[in-house]
Amino acid sequence: MAVGMRSSVKSKYETYRKILEKKAEEVQSSMSAQKAAQVLAREEHPHDEGDLSQQSHEEWIFLNRNTLDIKLLREVQGALRRIEEGTYGVCYECEEPISVKRLDAVPWAKFCVSCQERIAAGAEMGNEEALQEAGR
Ligand SMILES: [Zn+2]
Repeated sequence: MAVGMRSSVKSKYETYRKILEKKAEEVQSSMSAQKAAQVLAREEHPHDEGDLSQQSHEEWIFLNRNTLDIKLLREVQGALRRIEEGTYGVCYECEEPISVKRLDAVPWAKFCVSCQERIAAGAEMGNEEALQEAGR
């Protein structure tokens, strides 16, 4: 009995899964490197050990500085989950397949090119352009 012979859909995205896992590792290690640098900086200027507000303030700074990394990490992890669920490579918005070209460029892409452009344009112009397009 050949187990897993039918999982060709999953293996189709095996390359992307590897890229995504590597990306997640990269982002995580760059974040922990920054965290380590901060901890070292803190030890040069010691505060009361029980000062929790100081610590949470530093956590806040950490999160602020790493917002983009955290956002990217979430996207990457979301894409990995979609591979597991079998919904990877399908646009969240229009449910059309996302082009291979796009997935090669942005393996964690959630939307197809046209939906992504529409969303980006809507975010910049408050959707006025999109409404005009629709009314034509
Ligand atoms: Zn789409």
